[in-house]
Amino acid sequence: MHIGSDHPVSVQGMTKTHTADVDATVRQIHEMQARGCEIVRVAVPRVQDADAIADIRKTVGDIPLVADIHFDHALAIRSLQAGADGVRINPGNMRDMDAVAEVVRAADARDACIRIGVNSGSIRARDGADVALEADDDLAELLAGKTLAYLEFIESLDFRNVKLSLKASDVLTTIRATRLAADACDAPLHIGITAAGPPKTSLVKSAVGIGTLLAEGLGDTVRVSMTGSPLDEVTAAYDILEALELRKPTRPRIASCPTCGRCEIDLVKIVEEFERKLPADAPAVTIAIMGCVVNGPGEAADADVGIAGGKGSALLFRKGEKVRKLAEDDMVDALVEEVMKLKS
Ligand code: SF4
Repeated sequence: MHIGSDHPVSVQGMTKTHTADVDATVRQIHEMQARGCEIVRVAVPRVQDADAIADIRKTVGDIPLVADIHFDHALAIRSLQAGADGVRINPGNMRDMDAVAEVVRAADARDACIRIGVNSGSIRARDGADVALEADDDLAELLAGKTLAYLEFIESLDFRNVKLSLKASDVLTTIRATRLAADACDAPLHIGITAAGPPKTSLVKSAVGIGTLLAEGLGDTVRVSMTGSPLDEVTAAYDILEALELRKPTRPRIASCPTCGRCEIDLVKIVEEFERKLPADAPAVTIAIMGCVVNGPGEAADADVGIAGGKGSALLFRKGEKVRKLAEDDMVDALVEEVMKLKS
């Protein structure tokens, strides 16, 4: 897989299994791939996790596998020997540069990638003294400084297959740290908000943080992190990329109005029921579900299929043309039927 320069922004995911449980990890990777995950990272806290990569590699096809390493450089080397396509190492907790040089040599020997992945939780103000952050430390500058110093060291070993990530759990620090790194070097950037929280919180923080950076042209791979399903993380990453038109839509997009005092159909129920009934293989079209005639016909006419509500009824539109009037009870089924007709 190619990342950086003009290649489309890739979607990365991370498994949530114990990597040494090969069956569970492979099953989850397959599910993530089915959602569109393009790079998979697996946690490697133990020797058996590194060794499991050999079996996982054999079973999951070509998808790039990245070993997520903290503290122990030997696990990075072992993962590369087992067939990992890349390793993520963390400047915040792998501070012995002789050890880092060994990882670089192992990656170089296998043409593998190294991600310098720093995050706010593991950063220290001064490594030698392992000093915790003070309130007035500029976290974004520390994240960028450590990342760039690491990059300079790795590049001094004549190794260039490097990408960077600078993640904080707060959005503004992540944005600022990433901008600082992007201003200082040309290395590809992996972006995301770390420890972004449960799904609803993560969706907002990730959309704002990742979305802001992407809109500025920064970011070559993305990962949404949430305390929840890894499949939902992948879907959320695509939602962000599709909202910015950086990837083609792969799923139907519903444009529904918020409803207000002009609405005379139960639009909330209609949209919920429509989402529930829409088959998983529905085409990636735009569906407008609008409550009344104020914005309804305009939005519905712009969409591939749409309805604009009236009094206990709605007008059905297809590609801008009025098709027929629907009674409220028939709306959901009629809309699903029209959407599925657009499946090529
Ligand atoms: S489309 Fe009509 S019902 Fe929906 S929010 Fe706008 S004005 Fe209100």
